[in-house]
Amino acid sequence: MIDITLPDGSIKQLNDGATIADLAASIGAGLAKAAVAGKVDGELRDLKFPLSTGEKVEIITFKNPLGLEILRHSTSHIMAAAVKQLYPTAQVTIGPAIENGFYYDFAMERALTDEDLAAIEVRMHELIKAGDVFTRSEMSSNEAETLFKGMGENYKAEIIRDLAQARVSTYKVGDFLDLCRGPHLPSSDKIPAFKLLNVAGAYWRGDERNAMLTRVYGTAFPSQKELDEYLKQIEEAKKRDHRRLGKELDLFSFQEEGGAGLAYWHPKGAMARKLVEDFWREEHIKAGYDFVISPHIGKSDLWETSGHLGFYKESMYSPMDIDGQDYYIKPMNCPFHILIYKTQTRSYRDLPIRYSELGTVYRYERSGALHGLLRARGFTQDDSHIFIREDQLKGEIETVLKFVFYILGTFQFKEFEIFLSTRPKEHVGEVRVWDMATEALRFALDKVGFPYGIDEGGGAFYGPKIDIKVKDSIGRLWQCSTIQVDFNLPERFKMQYIAEDGTRKQPVMIHRAMLGSLERFFGVLVEHFAGAFPVWMAPVQARILTITNAVDDYAQTLAQELRSKGLRIETDLSPEKINAKVRDAQMAKIPYSLVIGAREAEAGKVAVRRYGSADSAVMTKDEFLAQILKEVSERK
Ligand SMILES: [Zn+2]
Ligand SMILES: [Zn+2]
Repeated sequence: MIDITLPDGSIKQLNDGATIADLAASIGAGLAKAAVAGKVDGELRDLKFPLSTGEKVEIITFKNPLGLEILRHSTSHIMAAAVKQLYPTAQVTIGPAIENGFYYDFAMERALTDEDLAAIEVRMHELIKAGDVFTRSEMSSNEAETLFKGMGENYKAEIIRDLAQARVSTYKVGDFLDLCRGPHLPSSDKIPAFKLLNVAGAYWRGDERNAMLTRVYGTAFPSQKELDEYLKQIEEAKKRDHRRLGKELDLFSFQEEGGAGLAYWHPKGAMARKLVEDFWREEHIKAGYDFVISPHIGKSDLWETSGHLGFYKESMYSPMDIDGQDYYIKPMNCPFHILIYKTQTRSYRDLPIRYSELGTVYRYERSGALHGLLRARGFTQDDSHIFIREDQLKGEIETVLKFVFYILGTFQFKEFEIFLSTRPKEHVGEVRVWDMATEALRFALDKVGFPYGIDEGGGAFYGPKIDIKVKDSIGRLWQCSTIQVDFNLPERFKMQYIAEDGTRKQPVMIHRAMLGSLERFFGVLVEHFAGAFPVWMAPVQARILTITNAVDDYAQTLAQELRSKGLRIETDLSPEKINAKVRDAQMAKIPYSLVIGAREAEAGKVAVRRYGSADSAVMTKDEFLAQILKEVSERK
């Protein structure tokens, strides 16, 4: 008999040679059916893996994110098997699970297109129905390399060489053999629901000097219902794509002529951004921050001291020569804020010092990684650096967290995914200070009361951090805020303050961005609101539509009156029919349409129609003014 420890600490006795599947069966029939793999002493294993006494085992089902990964990765094998059947000369490369799905890259004589996917799906359904078993084998690397070469799979042979392991494992499902570490589902018929999504080009090993491969994306879910929901979400996401809405609503553009990854803000986009900035600035003043403005370039000495030239150079652009000195465009604002701190002797009484800047930075991103406003080469961080004493850490982090949730909440984000990342193996600074800072972050998170996860060892080398993702209106998560404690830069720049006892001490530094960058956050907002911004941040808040040109004067006077109250008003005095004008205003996603005919003009009234509503309400102009001003002041 062997003894197996379960996650709850209890011991299960099994016969010699028992597998993970046997363990699941010994616990219950339901679990036996739901089990897809196991984690044995921390390593993922197939259900057929034979257990040994003393091992700690966790059964993995589709409820576990790891189970979903195994499902999706296994489906990528089935897809590769289908592609090989349909295109025997295709060579397989890699096929990992990714967030929400999987892909597989193929070297094809003719690149696949989206039109080819239906036939591949049909073949996959056949393979799934066949219920072929995933069979694992091990062999020496030499043996495997010869085997895959013989099959014409040159990429696999290259992978085996690069792995430089003595032995490798292969998996066979049906007649498709693949090099893989595993684990997989026990058999193909355990795939409940899948869908192939699209085809893209991808360079072998992500390097543009290599061959272009065909990447096929797909996804799989534990049920058809969950798959359908996901597909619906993708459809909805396409409609909300900020690049598409940015063009339709004339908010921003990217110009080939001006360079990739550099955003151009058009008048409406720039207005919306200004409104976000105004709100951000007002709230920072209330929260006790000071604004600073720093240069866009800095001498190499500065980046040497900060360490960026050591560990961040790949993201920095080539230097320019000014009077024989190298200057770099800034990828971050932090060193500049430190220099401002250092212009005076600081006392313990001066702290916290909170510097804030909407600081535009430039970072190199591969052209393939660029994605509209969400990933650009130039962007403006809402960057704050807070300098504090150690004893202020707890209180300050709590204040910062509350501030972050208040700001994000104003943009109608109500759900968050929060992670606290702790000390990694490689780190600077004393363990005592790390522990104290991590404790402060944990304390603040507990106090604020949102649930959070812990990423053990996932902190930056210079300090622990809190990362906050927002959940948008269709359930997608976006990384926005980050609060990072830093013991490194204060040390590198020899920052000091005079402590109460007269000694010189080093301040602790907090890097803090709430929105992340204005570009990225705006891209997220466009998708979150599907372009229909709330009244307070809509570039145009109301459009006045006339039914007849006889009321044009009244419309213009009204527009001027509303503008004088600080509102952003457009008029549509064109000879179009009123229905067409209403439709145009809806297409432009303007919060209010004010329809005016002879009756309204005579009575000093307006027919008010909300974006997305089919009804309108007739009210006096003062009633409308009071309503919209209230909404603006409440930021609704
Ligand atoms: Zn695999
Ligand atoms: Zn910073």
